[in-house]
Amino acid sequence: MPKTKLAASEKESVLVPETMKSAYLQRPLEVSVEEERVPNVTGKEVLVKLMAVGVCGSDIHYFAHGRIGKRYVQYPHVQGHECAGIVVSIGEKVTKFKVGDRVAVEPGVACMNCEWCKEGRYNLCPDVQFLSTPPVKGAFVQYLRHPEDFLFPIPDSLSYEHATLAEPLSVSIHAVKRGGLTPGSTVAITGMGPVGLMTVIAAKAFGAKEIIVSDIEPLRLETARKFGATKIFNAANEDLNAAIEEITSGLGVDMIIETSGNAKVLQSSIESAKRGGSVVVIGFPAIEEVPLNITLMLQKEIDLFSVYRYTNTYPLAISLLDTIGSKIKPIITDKYPLEDIQEAMNQAHTNRSGSLKVMVYPNHLQD
Ligand SMILES: [Zn+2]
Ligand SMILES: [Zn+2]
Repeated sequence: MPKTKLAASEKESVLVPETMKSAYLQRPLEVSVEEERVPNVTGKEVLVKLMAVGVCGSDIHYFAHGRIGKRYVQYPHVQGHECAGIVVSIGEKVTKFKVGDRVAVEPGVACMNCEWCKEGRYNLCPDVQFLSTPPVKGAFVQYLRHPEDFLFPIPDSLSYEHATLAEPLSVSIHAVKRGGLTPGSTVAITGMGPVGLMTVIAAKAFGAKEIIVSDIEPLRLETARKFGATKIFNAANEDLNAAIEEITSGLGVDMIIETSGNAKVLQSSIESAKRGGSVVVIGFPAIEEVPLNITLMLQKEIDLFSVYRYTNTYPLAISLLDTIGSKIKPIITDKYPLEDIQEAMNQAHTNRSGSLKVMVYPNHLQD
């Protein structure tokens, strides 16, 4: 590959190749690696050499179905939004970063001008440019151009692959904050996919005393236990509601966080919540309309919180991941170089019982 010295700014420059590999989704279930130009950076933009990119549930959904709700993929499309890397060049107005800095990338770039951005709820910005959400291209690329305000430094003790988990962990931190989780609470979390597992970590960090979890996959439940779940239930052959009733002496849990997207699980969460408790919904149900027992909600004065992405969570997510250290390792079950992206996506799509987080390495495979 030819290398030229790109004058990125007066201050900093580094050897960056002219071209890079990017993974393009060509049609449902088919992705190919293409060669294209490395983007130039100006102003407050930073060029990040991506070292690890996690495959998210939403990536798998777009990969298989070409759409989520009313959002359609425009082919060819680049996926991936959970990423971390090293700064290799900076625009002339960048002040927070220098070449060589290790960073986690917050994928949603908000306008910072609209009423929601000004309120601090920038996850609701109507003009947000979120990596990999169509039509915005994503992070299955070797070099990513991103504004400095949405990059966060990571300590040397935190690996790039673990730093990518700041994205799903951010969703969980936002969820426990939305629901007002307080120390000493009893929390139930349904669905132990990567976001459910991250929610166990967030609930523990916010001081939950009891963390009751359910899923139907033994690997996920065992991983949840390693991450701090105090009681695990296999929903395939155990009744979570009955178990919660027994554990809480019939009172119910202070908070139940639904991550599975299963409509029935969401419906029964109203029953498991304590009087005056809260139900926090993260998982998108497969159907748009889910009937809920509003009468029971009113009688118990249940608070229902919906969670969409996150705001102002990255520094905390990064510091939690750094504190947890190598204990987080079991969540990364599969590793692929960018060249094998097709295999990586197939694995994430089809191996539900064996795979948790599939990790892609755009530059070189880490061990
Ligand atoms: Zn994600
Ligand atoms: Zn905005």
